[in-house]
Amino acid sequence: MTRPVAPQRLASLPVLGRQLRGTLFLEHEARSVLNPPESTGIGCWSFNPYVGCEFGCSYCYARFAHRYVTERARDGGLIDAATFRNLRGRRGVEGFEKNIFVKRSESVLRALEHDLSRIAARSRGIPAKETLVIGTATDPYQPAERKYGITRAVLQRLRTAFPLRLEIITKSPLVVRDIPLLCELKQRHRLSVNISIIAASRSLIRLFEPRSPMPHARLRALARLTAAGINAGVLVAPVLPGITDRVSSLRKLLEAAKEHGACYARCGPLRLYPAVRPLLLPILERRFPRLADRYRRAYTGSGAAPPAYAAALKCRFGKIAREVGVPTVDPLDASGWAEFEIQLALPLGQSGSRGASGAAALMPSGASTER
Ligand code: SF4
Repeated sequence: MTRPVAPQRLASLPVLGRQLRGTLFLEHEARSVLNPPESTGIGCWSFNPYVGCEFGCSYCYARFAHRYVTERARDGGLIDAATFRNLRGRRGVEGFEKNIFVKRSESVLRALEHDLSRIAARSRGIPAKETLVIGTATDPYQPAERKYGITRAVLQRLRTAFPLRLEIITKSPLVVRDIPLLCELKQRHRLSVNISIIAASRSLIRLFEPRSPMPHARLRALARLTAAGINAGVLVAPVLPGITDRVSSLRKLLEAAKEHGACYARCGPLRLYPAVRPLLLPILERRFPRLADRYRRAYTGSGAAPPAYAAALKCRFGKIAREVGVPTVDPLDASGWAEFEIQLALPLGQSGSRGASGAAALMPSGASTER
C-alpha cells in the first residue's frame, strides 16, 4: 500500500515515505533509544521504535511523546511554525497518527550499544534483573514496521544482549512475523508478549480505535504465539468506565483470551490525560452523553482513574479471570509489571472526599444504561 515518493525534505526533516491514506513518515535521529526507569517513572526501561502510531486510538496517552518531538524539531530550527502546526494537526493532537517519526535504524543500533552496556552494568551479573518493555508509547508492530523494521532490528540485537526481563506490547498480528526470533529470544531473556485489547466487540473497537486490527486478528496472533511456546497474554487496557468494564464485556473478552491460549490477563483503567481529552470526550458526548459528564467529574488533576474505581475494577477483573481460569499475574513475573501498580498509587488530589466522589461517578456497574 506504500507509494514510492521522490526524495524530498520537509524543511530539514527528511521524508521517508507517504502512504496512500495520507500518513507521512519522517526520519528521526535517535540520540538515545532506551528510556531508563528514572526518566519515565514507569519502573522499567522502555523502547519505542516510532514516535506516533498509525492505529490512532482515541484514548492513547502517548500523544504527548509526538508533541514533544515536534516541539523539539521546531525549537531546534528543523521546521518552521507553519510546518509545526501541520505536523501537530488541527487540534494539536491528530499529528500523532498522521505524521509518524521513524527512528533511523543506524542511529538506533548505535545508541542501543551504549544503552545496553548501561543495563548490563546495572544488572550486576543478575540475569533478568532489569526490565525492558518495547511499545510503551507506540505500537512496535504498527504498519510502518512492515517497511522500516526497526523493532525487528532491535530484537535481533537483543539475541546477544545481557539477559533481561523483556516485554512487548502490541495490538498487531504482525508480531507473528517474528515468532522464530522471539523463540530464540526466550531462550536468553524472560520474555512476555502482551496482546493489547480493550474489548471483544468489533463495533466498540472501531469506535475508539479507528485503524487498529480487529479483535479476532489479535486473538489469532495470541494463539499463534502461545502455540509456538511463547509466554503471551492479554493486556486489557485501558478499561473504559461504564463502557468496557461491564461484567459481560470483560467475561466475553477473557473467555476468548482463554480459548486462544492466553497465559495471563492483566488490566488497567483509563488515564484521561490532557492530550486524550480532545479526542475521547467528543466520542463520549456523541455516543455516551451521560458518561461524558461523569468522566469529567471523576477525572481531575493528574488524569489517573480514581483509586477506588481502580481497586473495584481490579477486584471485578480478578473475580472474572478466576472464574474463566486465566491467571492475572504473568507466570514469568510474580510481581507483575510495575506500571499498573504505580498507576494505582498515583495521588489523585488532595482530599479523600474528592477521590471518593470521582469514583462514585464511575464505579463499575453491570447495569449501566448508557448502551
Ligand atoms: S496502538 Fe497503542 S500506541 Fe498506538 S495509538 Fe493505540 S494505544 Fe496508542
